[in-house]
Amino acid sequence: MSSDTYDYLDGNAAAGELSKIFAMDITAAEGQCAHCGATKRFAEARLYMQCPGIVARCAACDHVLLRFVNVGQRVFLDLRGMTYFSLDTSQLQ
Ligand SMILES: [Zn+2]
Repeated sequence: MSSDTYDYLDGNAAAGELSKIFAMDITAAEGQCAHCGATKRFAEARLYMQCPGIVARCAACDHVLLRFVNVGQRVFLDLRGMTYFSLDTSQLQ
């Protein structure tokens, strides 16, 4: 299973879709990969958008960090690939 066979974008590409559910810019957020323990900014994640929705994978180990699917009037968010997801609230007024 090699990521070389797929084209991916960086985490910044998810900003538009994820702004539907997050009031803050999540590309600056940090998350820790539940698989390898790497802590990185979400913008550094590898983003696969060819699937129905968005899949973000760890830039270090390729483990799935986040899945986001928009189905009709409902969005599904799967964050179990991350130990935690940390947002900087200083950007809020
Ligand atoms: Zn990882």
